[in-house]
Amino acid sequence: MIELKNVTKKYGNVWANKNISCVIEQGEFVYVVGPSGAGKTTLLEILSAQRSIDSGIARIGNIEIEYLRNEQIYKLRRQLGIVSQKDLFLPRLTIKENMETCMSALEIPTEKWEERMAEVLTSVEMMLFIERLPQELSVGQQKKIAIARALLNDPPVIIADEPTANLDVKSAKEIMQIFFRLNQMGTTIILATHDSTMVNSLRHRTLELKNGELIRDDPDGGYSRFS
Ligand code: ADP
Ligand code: ADP
Repeated sequence: MIELKNVTKKYGNVWANKNISCVIEQGEFVYVVGPSGAGKTTLLEILSAQRSIDSGIARIGNIEIEYLRNEQIYKLRRQLGIVSQKDLFLPRLTIKENMETCMSALEIPTEKWEERMAEVLTSVEMMLFIERLPQELSVGQQKKIAIARALLNDPPVIIADEPTANLDVKSAKEIMQIFFRLNQMGTTIILATHDSTMVNSLRHRTLELKNGELIRDDPDGGYSRFS
């Protein structure tokens, strides 16, 4: 369902991604690992049509990312749940108002807003916090809200960049449980991390990047002993 063929992205003479090829089927759980600067964010942003590629083919479903026109980019992004490294919320708006802004952008009919919002916020156990402002929440709570927001359009694929960075162990575990639960319900999860303890203990297919190259695609997972 997701296919990359020789995907390459260069900045000056830095290979952010170099000849990356892989196929990810619907329902898979995939870690993307590697040291800082290895190319993880670039790869995730290519997959979500947030970055152009220099050469190669990137396909999600029947949509070829390289040839996207603007309106197709929006169509594609609506099929994806994106949890970025930084959770951008509108700071003066409550969680409820932030969610409403998103649902409006997604063109979800107004009469469905309440139900949809309750559904996604309940799934991350954050329904009690809807009247708060973003900065009144802990980092872990904000991450849960960011995940709930990514679920608003019921996407078949979720792309998450370092969702447990800067979290204490307990919050990180809670966040990961949310992703595992979503995956069990059939959602494809592509998750970048350099938390080797997590990758080693909760095993899933692992793609390892180094200097922009895919140096390992391991169905049994585990963090490389060498990085
Ligand atoms: P990671 O997420 O694994 O830390 P990135 O994908 O962010 O890696 O970066 C891969 C490489 O590409 C790094 O060397 C980084 O400095 C470079 N890079 C990423 N984005 C840009 C950009 N917009 N301009 C220039 N260089 C970039
Ligand atoms: P696109 O070409 O689709 O706009 P890019 O991935 O080339 O996407 O660029 C993403 C962002 O990184 C843009 O805001 C761009 O201005 C910036 N960028 C691209 N190349 C460099 C670079 N060499 N140094 C600094 N910023 C860069």
